[in-house]
Amino acid sequence: YNIAQPETAKLLSYLPGSDEKKQLKERIAQMKSAPIEIPLIINGKEVRTGRTGTCIIPHNHSHVLATYHMAGPKEMEMAIDAALEAKKTWEGTPWDHRLAVFLKAAELIDGPWRSTLNAATMLGQGKSVYESEAEAACELMDFFRFGSYFVKQIIEEQPKAVQGIFNRMEYRPLEGFVLAVTPFNFTAIGGNLPSAPAMSGNTAIWKPASTAIFSNYYVMKLLMEAGLPDGVINFLPGPGSVIGPIAMDHPMLGGIHFTGSTATFNNMWRTVAGNLENYRSYPRIVGETGGKDFLFAHASADVGAVVHAVIAGAFSYQGQKCSATSRVYLPQSIWEDVQKGLIKETKDLKPGNVEDFTNYMGAVIDKASFDNIKSYIDVAEKSPEAQIIIGGGCNDDVGYFVDPTVIVTTNPHFKTMEEEIFGPVVTIYVYADDDFEEALDLCESTSPYALTGAVFARDRLVIADLEKRLTYAAGNFYINDKTTGAYVGLQPFGGSRASGTNEKVGSKHNTSRWMIPRSIKENF
Ligand code: GLU
Repeated sequence: YNIAQPETAKLLSYLPGSDEKKQLKERIAQMKSAPIEIPLIINGKEVRTGRTGTCIIPHNHSHVLATYHMAGPKEMEMAIDAALEAKKTWEGTPWDHRLAVFLKAAELIDGPWRSTLNAATMLGQGKSVYESEAEAACELMDFFRFGSYFVKQIIEEQPKAVQGIFNRMEYRPLEGFVLAVTPFNFTAIGGNLPSAPAMSGNTAIWKPASTAIFSNYYVMKLLMEAGLPDGVINFLPGPGSVIGPIAMDHPMLGGIHFTGSTATFNNMWRTVAGNLENYRSYPRIVGETGGKDFLFAHASADVGAVVHAVIAGAFSYQGQKCSATSRVYLPQSIWEDVQKGLIKETKDLKPGNVEDFTNYMGAVIDKASFDNIKSYIDVAEKSPEAQIIIGGGCNDDVGYFVDPTVIVTTNPHFKTMEEEIFGPVVTIYVYADDDFEEALDLCESTSPYALTGAVFARDRLVIADLEKRLTYAAGNFYINDKTTGAYVGLQPFGGSRASGTNEKVGSKHNTSRWMIPRSIKENF
């Protein structure tokens, strides 16, 4: 593998009858055959606390996949000590040997671990085979390979030596340990958030989301198989209310790498602010939070492309992406055609069991999420300002199934136009063609978030205008494409405003946050 030229990983198609498909099916059956026990991993050792929770299958919630142990204060202290101790060796390890661990992990995903990560993500997080392959396999490989490349690029960026003076930049890791808090919706984000800092010589405590522990545990095992030294990443399932405060009270908190809700992230900033005098250094706080992502179409838009983008953007992975399309602005002149297209294309779209590879959608992640999504659908059902034109059905008898749902509203500030739902629900506001300017202002100002957004138009002047007018509305801005599915290294991902610190995972900007450079001037 040539570290100097990473390539975007190729999706496997899992064609009927292929060896890959057979292998994946077998792995799924094996994982379902008996529950496993998931320990904490501290300093490379398995730790069992006896305080346990369970991992279930979202589309079949009575099926238990695993019992996991939860960390308490004692294990958290042990993990911090292990991380600080391991750092003494890890930061001094030559960078190419550090990166070799992650490059090896990518090779293993491309080989024997691919079916394991896909099976665990499909079962544990309810992803369709396509969505899982795109991230738990391809995106995670990309994070490891591109991430390694960015470290190398940064390290090799050196100032000029001038006559008599030898100038150097030394890229040290942060002082202390990094706390990585990761979400349920992407296995790849789980793997990347502790790994990106580790590539630069940091050590980390990894607190996975409780609903992603099953797949995330396999990622941890993969990294260990790839040669990750003990203590460099410590895997700590457990309550955020225990793990977070202990990490943030510690004088050696070097940084936080977070993906999750805006409310949790805001609380972290507040806690860190309250402890500033205690820290050795100002902790680096890097986070990606929520979104209320828009699709804005002009009258010149291609109707078929808009229909496709609404469906893929709003319903892939049941809308449980921070990047999911959730508010749509359409001009009256194309509305009828778009509506027809949406009804036709979603006719056969029902959430189902993702173990059947032909299913496009699975269940939503858990009961709390199901209830929350349903409460938004109920609001729309009862309101005279809204009409549910597609879907609206919810059933949690066997799995947490929510039908793909399209709401049309006459109020651009309707609740479902403004609040993040994190489910397969999209709301459309139809504007009069003459009110283009007002509609654009609404699109820009309605949401506190600024993660992703898409504009659709064929008129080049309109495209140029939209790009300029929506400058701060989205960190990932799409023209004639859906709002989801950014590629590592090609469309670095992240947003500002209430969506996070916009430090772009999958780019050099993110990599550089895990380093504190030292300038060295030497007189010859
Ligand atoms: N990077 C993902 C995408 O482009 C979204 C990540 C997230 O939901 O946090 O769709």
